[in-house]
Amino acid sequence: MDLYEYQGKELFRRFGIPVSEGRLATSPEEARAAAEELGGQVVVKAQVLTGGRGKAGGIKLASSPEEAEEHAKKVLGLDINGHVVRKLWIESASDIEREYYLSLTFDRDEKKALFMFTKEGGIDIEEVASERPEAVARLHIDPLEGFQPYQARRLVYRAGIEDESEQKQIATIAERLYATFVELDAMLCEINPLIVTPDGEVKALDSKFTVDDNALLKHPEIAEMRDLEAYPPEERQAREKDVTYVKLDGEVGVLGNGAGLVMSTLDVVALAGGRPANFCDLGGGGDAQGVVDALEIISADPQVKSILFNIFGGITRCDEVARGILQALEQLTIVEPIVVRLDGTNAEEGREILRGASPANLHVEPTMLEAAKRAVELT
Ligand code: GDP
Ligand code: MN
Repeated sequence: MDLYEYQGKELFRRFGIPVSEGRLATSPEEARAAAEELGGQVVVKAQVLTGGRGKAGGIKLASSPEEAEEHAKKVLGLDINGHVVRKLWIESASDIEREYYLSLTFDRDEKKALFMFTKEGGIDIEEVASERPEAVARLHIDPLEGFQPYQARRLVYRAGIEDESEQKQIATIAERLYATFVELDAMLCEINPLIVTPDGEVKALDSKFTVDDNALLKHPEIAEMRDLEAYPPEERQAREKDVTYVKLDGEVGVLGNGAGLVMSTLDVVALAGGRPANFCDLGGGGDAQGVVDALEIISADPQVKSILFNIFGGITRCDEVARGILQALEQLTIVEPIVVRLDGTNAEEGREILRGASPANLHVEPTMLEAAKRAVELT
């Protein structure tokens, strides 16, 4: 789950990482009031779950409440990489002497958390990382040893930080960032830029924060931060019904059980000359209600011209899935043709059930490849 900048900063603040004071605003009037309360120069910052806001015109400095209101009018409603701005973070502006970059993420190959730190922070970090990787200090943290003070020192030396006060502040921030990352089950904590002010104060000017979805049960206060309005309606519906749904841009709606099978199904659709419109993963269960929910979500996508149902019964029983399909056809009006391939546990029984009912727009195929070909033809 990705957090907004303001939410990430709130968590940083709780863990003692310095951030600027700010207020949330959803209208130009609120932006003005926030700027009045904060006093002095402020930054009007678009809150969207994507980066590159500065370049897209979503970050603006204002020297007065009136100017903050004017900027808010322009930034609210702005489309940044497909994300429409509905919230603003109004923050006391900082003077910037230098912009660094600090992040913590997982290195799955090493099975360790990985710090990345460079003096060349700011906007084009990807460029720095790919063109001059030697400018980025990398440091792994052993999960059993935890974070040790010498590691923080190593990180700042490797990046070439010479000022002693900066070294100390950054080391402290790194230590606290590691605590934030571990205690909140984050998958990414990124500060870009980590700034140094003209007075030599180091603080986080931005936050990118991703929490492991699977750990949200442990962190109800973070789970509540999820902004349902930020998701497309089908994804929202899918989330509410506990169905894994991903939107793609072709014509064949794909439904399968298990991520591996679903991925192969996408490949087979491509092999048959088609393109998937979306996919749903029923997971290991695949009971009748799950099938109804998934079909409802898949068929709501106007791009879907045919639906490919690919089930390999292990724990999932094909007869149960077949009943789910019939139940869904009774409950929903699905006009798109549905092609079904059932194999594995109780497959013959499942096919029998479908054959017996023989709904008009339902086609049963014996193999995955034949089913994919049929589904593509039917688009
Ligand atoms: P991003 O473009 O989405 O990564 O948004 P950031 O929050 O990182 O802001 C982009 C850039 O705007 C920063 O690198 C800064 O140069 C500038 N910026 C953001 N906040 C301030 C501020 O308080 N004062 C000044 N002078 N510049 C700021
Ligand atoms: Mn940034």
